[in-house]
Amino acid sequence: MSKYDIIVLGSGPGGYVTAIRASQLGFKTAVVEKENLGGVCLNWGCIPTKALLKSAEVFNYLKHAEDYGLTVKDAKHDFDAVVKRSRGVAEGMSKGVQFLMKKNKIDVINGFGKLKTGKKVDVTADDGKTTTYEADHIIIATGARSRELPNLPQDGKKVIGYREAMTLKEQPKKMIVVGSGAIGVEFAHFYNAMGTEVTIVEYLPTLVPVEDEDVSKQFEKSFKKAGIKVMTNAAVESVDTSGKGVKATVKTKKGEEILEADVVLSAVGIKTNIENIGLEDLGIKTDKDKIIVNEWYQTNVPGVYAIGDVVPGQALAHVASAEGILCVEKIKGMHVEALDYGNIPGCTYASPEIASVGLTEKQAKEQGYDIRVGKFPFSASGKASAAGKKDGFVKVIFDKKYGEWLGCHMIGAGVTDMIAEAVLGRKLETTGYEVLKAVHPHPTMSEAVMEAVAAAYDEVIHL
Ligand SMILES: Cc1cc2nc3c(=O)[nH]c(=O)nc-3n(C[C@H](O)[C@H](O)[C@H](O)COP(=O)(O)OP(=O)(O)OC[C@H]3O[C@@H](n4cnc5c(N)ncnc54)[C@H](O)[C@@H]3O)c2cc1C
Repeated sequence: MSKYDIIVLGSGPGGYVTAIRASQLGFKTAVVEKENLGGVCLNWGCIPTKALLKSAEVFNYLKHAEDYGLTVKDAKHDFDAVVKRSRGVAEGMSKGVQFLMKKNKIDVINGFGKLKTGKKVDVTADDGKTTTYEADHIIIATGARSRELPNLPQDGKKVIGYREAMTLKEQPKKMIVVGSGAIGVEFAHFYNAMGTEVTIVEYLPTLVPVEDEDVSKQFEKSFKKAGIKVMTNAAVESVDTSGKGVKATVKTKKGEEILEADVVLSAVGIKTNIENIGLEDLGIKTDKDKIIVNEWYQTNVPGVYAIGDVVPGQALAHVASAEGILCVEKIKGMHVEALDYGNIPGCTYASPEIASVGLTEKQAKEQGYDIRVGKFPFSASGKASAAGKKDGFVKVIFDKKYGEWLGCHMIGAGVTDMIAEAVLGRKLETTGYEVLKAVHPHPTMSEAVMEAVAAAYDEVIHL
């Protein structure tokens, strides 16, 4: 029986990053994976969606070339080629992980892994053969899949999840997107840009409901301007797939409405992959579909850990990676600091992009802070004007008493690349004054952060 220091179950951004850090720390490490290396993020999530969204962005530029003084006649798209490009990008990323595993001398064990008592893992390969491996530490990083609602069962054809949504053979003429979290709105934007008639149905009163209210409002305005039909305070009650397309019965405040479409994309969250992996046999505790862990990702069973989408916390790739790194550093005996879940950036890559970290204005008030808020619109930014991307703003929230940077919320072109400044500032416990005195380059979109902070301190220049 092969024996390892650490076996990681699952090779997503949680699992493969954990394995690399473990190997760097001198642990003999193996990763068990039943599909392609890289997990949802590289194969079915973060990366292939961003490839699709890049095609949408380029297509939009071509369609609006005249805005930039250019002539492009008959800008057309080849849906199949757009999907193929996205799959190619994902494949390349997965191969990159393969290379990293080799480089870091990590054994990749292909097959479905199941935990056994005595710190063992049974791995069943595609041919049905099961091999047992042993490790001092086993880290569960089996991730999640698309969540199915009972009244919206996915058949993979007319009612689909995200995997099908990024590999459709034919572009739908009409699509209903259920759920307006990051995944829902990214697909809604992509299909709308490609020419599909998109309706988005959201149960809560606003789109992207976890965001600051100002951001949600601006986002909804932009989506409507782009031609996406938005239904908030609305719930899909049932779907009828018996005809040629789909008929969805949607309950709204005004009553029931029947929507017709070629496909319905269900984007209502995730369901963790915690079934049949031996949790019950080992007595590992779970709660509300998540494995219970402490701040070092230890489960209630010594030597067994869990990280990534299977544990509570934001279901994001960078969170999964950070948790995995912390987990193995703690196993090594390093003095590590627990992850600050209040300082995790969240990004949405639709158009406009959204990026945020920390408290919303409402949360800050609810928590009793006396706050100063600053907002700087991109309509007043030279770089945004030059780029033809004037929609959106940066909003910052500070505690009046100590100047603590409580939250930062951005909406507009390229803001997902700008939020790291606020994450770092907050990590270093900077005050607004210090951000204000840190000279930002001109002309950049990032100047809007400095100006928003200046607005909070009544020192704004360009407004
Ligand atoms: C459409 C979409 C877009 C997204 N975009 C973003 C984004 O832009 N940014 C972001 O931060 N996050 C994004 N996410 C979320 C992100 O993909 C996840 O948070 C992240 O992949 C979680 O990483 P993980 O390692 O916990 O699990 P996963 O990436 O789900 O990986 C788990 C791996 O474990 C394997 N596995 C499961 N069970 C077993 C078993 N028993 N034996 C062996 N292998 C097993 C699976 O095959 C999989 O490869 C997106 C998700 C989706 C669906």
